[in-house]
Amino acid sequence: MLRVCVRQVRAMGGTMSVSGLSSLTAFEQAVGQTPLLRLRGASEAAGCNVYAKAEYANPGGSVKDRPALSMILGAERDGHLVRGEEGVIVEGTAGNTGIGLALAGRALGYKVLICIASSQSQEKKDMLRWAGAELVEVPPVPYADPNNYVHVAARLADAIANKLPVNSFYANQWDNLDNRAAHASTTGPEIMRQIADAERSRDGEPGVVTAFSAAMGTGGTLTGVAEALRAANPHVHIALTDPHGAGLYRYYTEGELKAVGSSISEGIGQNRITGNMVGFEPDAAHEISDADMMLALEILQSCDGLAMGTSSGINVAGAIQVGRELGPDANVVTILCDVGARYAGKLYSPNFLRSVSLTPPPWIDEDDAGLGPPWS
Ligand code: PMP
Repeated sequence: MLRVCVRQVRAMGGTMSVSGLSSLTAFEQAVGQTPLLRLRGASEAAGCNVYAKAEYANPGGSVKDRPALSMILGAERDGHLVRGEEGVIVEGTAGNTGIGLALAGRALGYKVLICIASSQSQEKKDMLRWAGAELVEVPPVPYADPNNYVHVAARLADAIANKLPVNSFYANQWDNLDNRAAHASTTGPEIMRQIADAERSRDGEPGVVTAFSAAMGTGGTLTGVAEALRAANPHVHIALTDPHGAGLYRYYTEGELKAVGSSISEGIGQNRITGNMVGFEPDAAHEISDADMMLALEILQSCDGLAMGTSSGINVAGAIQVGRELGPDANVVTILCDVGARYAGKLYSPNFLRSVSLTPPPWIDEDDAGLGPPWS
């Protein structure tokens, strides 16, 4: 892959030297230090401050760039990948981790092989290919089925490790603790610093994070941020905001890991305890319907000018619920995971939304001629 980089630089008339290749990639420089945004609409709806970490501002466009980079650097630390030598990264993904791995991996000189369920959005699959990943698409079957994308990815990784004479690395974001560590060492501390400044009192006392809430896919974000926040303040309130019908909500409230419904949200709604979740207990769990997710996405758009993806809608709807419970003095923080354009074929399509019994926002609903665009 680095040969491609050298060739392209030379095609532009440059000379690519060894020292050029050993400097930090722009991807590495751009990951993290994302803005913390006070959400005007969600704060009004909750009756307290609702803040969100703008993780869509990472270079691959999602909250998963931090763990993607952290897992690659961990693989180099542990000797599975060697900088400057050929290497293959294999991963199963709902899309975003794969995009981070593909962008960072290629820039660092590795090939990236991604296994993904065909039900994931076309936009993410297109982006993965453009980012240079090789894609293996499998039917969307439950985790218990041996043909689930997670198991296919693990088998591909095994086959590559046993057959190919190159370095290889199965990222395994679910059980790889470099995922959680990325959020414990960067996202969590950034949130605390940003709230300290944003909510500093008149007499100079730093602002305090009252609560953090988010949905879980691998669990890396919620468990990692919770680890950092709890280490600084054992009283901080940590809440899971699960899509309606997903298994973890029932696990944390009733002790039974059982999914009873489905959601159009992607990348969240886990039905097992991953390695990153072991030892973690939230203080509360909330279940968020897709209708409330849509409402939160509409509030984000019409009150704050943010067009976000499905899991961001679940997170913001959840943060509003948490805020209402905690009262007017709370500073509730959540995550804006990625942008809505990554789900355009679903979120921006009135026909798709109606086909899953969701009401399109009035300004894109062609049948709703009376309302028109949001400024009317
Ligand atoms: N939102 C989106 C869009 C995601 O892709 C993911 C990860 N699959 C998450 C949220 C959940 O993040 P985590 O894996 O850290 O729990």
